[in-house]
Amino acid sequence: MSDVKKITIIGAGPAGVSASLYAVRAGIDTTLVVHGESALDKAESIENYYGFPGGISGAELKARGIEQAKGLGVKVLEEEVVGLAFEEKLVVKTDAERHETDAIIIAMGSQRKAPAIEGIKEFEGRGVSYCAVCDGFFYRGKTVAVLGAGEYADSEAHELEPLAETVIRLDDIDAIEKFSGDAKIEKVEFKDGSAQEIDGLFIAYGTAGPGDLARKIGILLNGDKIAVNEEMATNVPGIYAAGDCTGGLLQVSKAVSDGAIAATSAIKYLRG
Ligand SMILES: Cc1cc2nc3c(=O)[nH]c(=O)nc-3n(C[C@H](O)[C@H](O)[C@H](O)COP(=O)(O)OP(=O)(O)OC[C@H]3O[C@@H](n4cnc5c(N)ncnc54)[C@H](O)[C@@H]3O)c2cc1C
Repeated sequence: MSDVKKITIIGAGPAGVSASLYAVRAGIDTTLVVHGESALDKAESIENYYGFPGGISGAELKARGIEQAKGLGVKVLEEEVVGLAFEEKLVVKTDAERHETDAIIIAMGSQRKAPAIEGIKEFEGRGVSYCAVCDGFFYRGKTVAVLGAGEYADSEAHELEPLAETVIRLDDIDAIEKFSGDAKIEKVEFKDGSAQEIDGLFIAYGTAGPGDLARKIGILLNGDKIAVNEEMATNVPGIYAAGDCTGGLLQVSKAVSDGAIAATSAIKYLRG
């Protein structure tokens, strides 16, 4: 059996790519798993990052980083991460497969937002949940709805099916007027005038955000950001986080620095 250690880095923005450069150059089998946009894709011109007189577009900076990582031997998988688990080893679950790994760096950027439908914010913690693995147990034998249409919504529904009596899929968010209830969520009301009674609502809109993944494996959050110490380590051994998903200054320079620190800490951890 090979004794080369594996690290899986979620996200290929500046934090993830920076981490991958350090990990791969330390002789670690390094994989970046990436799905969806980086904040860099929206940045027309970056003029405050070291080394680019006249600025550089976010898209080009991102492409250059990924090319640099690939050139050093980093594997890049285009897969959507939908879950994290600790089995015999750490496991990163994607829409395509499950990847066993020795360490993980979460570098997924900022938290995604819930859709702006009346009732979601109001009933958070009162029937509205963002994590089937965390809260599904409370809905044994009950009727729950899963809001969302992608792979992430499928995986959340799949978690709930063995527990809930009925799992309703709300995959067309445009059809929903609002969520209503009294002390807790009770109903989804549709624009066509119909309604469906529910005991709980699980938000699985778009791709899994860093907070969604963190909750699944017991990583502590600080608000909607991942809580880390000065080594960018989370409270779960072997799992680190870097960049916008940890809060603070939401800038490329901080993401690159976080990635370097997270990888350096992970390398130390993997070498025992
Ligand atoms: C409009 C705009 C302009 C900006 N201008 C500047 C600027 O001038 N200067 C500056 O320094 N900063 C700027 N920023 C901020 C900068 O872009 C971010 O701070 C930086 O990109 C954060 O890097 P990150 O690696 O933490 O996250 P991101 O760059 O957001 O990367 C996150 C990565 O995670 C991946 N990901 C997310 N979810 C999943 C999942 N479920 N499975 C797999 N992969 C996933 C994404 O595909 C992406 O690769 C700007 C941001 C915006 C939006």
